[in-house]
Amino acid sequence: MQRMLLLFLLAMITPTFAQSPAPSASSARTTHKWAVVLHGGAGVIERNSMTPEAEKEYRAGISEALHAAASVLDRGGSSVDAVEAAIRILEDNPLFNAGRGAVFAADGTNQLDAAIMDGKTMTAGAVADVTRTRHPISLARAVMEKSPHVMLVGPGADAFAASVGLEQVPPSFFFTERRWESLVRELKREHLPIPPRPAGAPPAPAHDAAFFETPDNHKYGTVGVVALDRAGNVAAGTSTGGLTAKRWDRVGDSPIIGAGTYASNQSCAVSGTGIGEYFIRYTVARTICALVQYRGMTLQAAADLVIQKQLAPIHGDGGVIAIAPDGQMAWSFNTPGMFRARLAEGGTPVVGIYRDEP
Ligand code: ASP
Repeated sequence: MQRMLLLFLLAMITPTFAQSPAPSASSARTTHKWAVVLHGGAGVIERNSMTPEAEKEYRAGISEALHAAASVLDRGGSSVDAVEAAIRILEDNPLFNAGRGAVFAADGTNQLDAAIMDGKTMTAGAVADVTRTRHPISLARAVMEKSPHVMLVGPGADAFAASVGLEQVPPSFFFTERRWESLVRELKREHLPIPPRPAGAPPAPAHDAAFFETPDNHKYGTVGVVALDRAGNVAAGTSTGGLTAKRWDRVGDSPIIGAGTYASNQSCAVSGTGIGEYFIRYTVARTICALVQYRGMTLQAAADLVIQKQLAPIHGDGGVIAIAPDGQMAWSFNTPGMFRARLAEGGTPVVGIYRDEP
């Protein structure tokens, strides 16, 4: 009798198992549509401050990076791979304040900061004041994946980069005349001494004294990328030379996890750009994700709350890009412009610079 009962019970439950489909790898892969959002810096970027040619170059640079990330994601690559691929392109593009083309510190060096975070594992890597590693974002990734640490700084960070085989370059690799001129202008404005041109830099073009009195339209250009892959994982990365004429080995928000860079599959991924001191004090990236996670706000509302309601009134100039595991994309900035772009699987790319663009 007992045996009969057992058989009956088994017969009752077996179909239940049979009905629940085994999760297949392909269904897991295609659950999510990929998406990517990037920025190339926020600031006083206005139509009258840019020539049509310069504008074209910026849009082309942003689009190239967007498509690099998109092609990684479209092949089924990870969000971390997409973030790194796009930022490497922007680091090599002299228009942007990251890698080659980074702004100069007051002592005439390029001191580079970068961070990357994987929302799936909540692991992160960051570097600050790097001077010899061609791709700081790849170094940040190496810190995340190949070291037991989260953040390395200065010569130690470059030494670690060399030890894991990342390309090392002479500091003059990062030199651009435009950023040098910005440094000279800023140092003159602050009545600070002007350092000698870096070893290996090309000879100085002739300028009259008035040249350095004109205002600087090229202060910005930090780069950041957030991505969502087909597996539903988000990641964020940011890379920058920081602020022109920074002193005392100043470090901004970009490499500070939770300030300029943050990613968690439980909420969102964010990369910021602007005056880093505000982004650090207001833990901008993590606050946006916390609003999504604990208050259930939409990504756009959370980004707007922090950027427009918290930072704007205290002159915390800047902006963010953000993405969520459910495919929401957002950007928000309280400056006249932000270089930005986004693309979701099956959609068309949106590229913008000025405030009045979509
Ligand atoms: N947030 C960067 C920093 O403070 C600079 C920028 O985004 O323009 O280092």
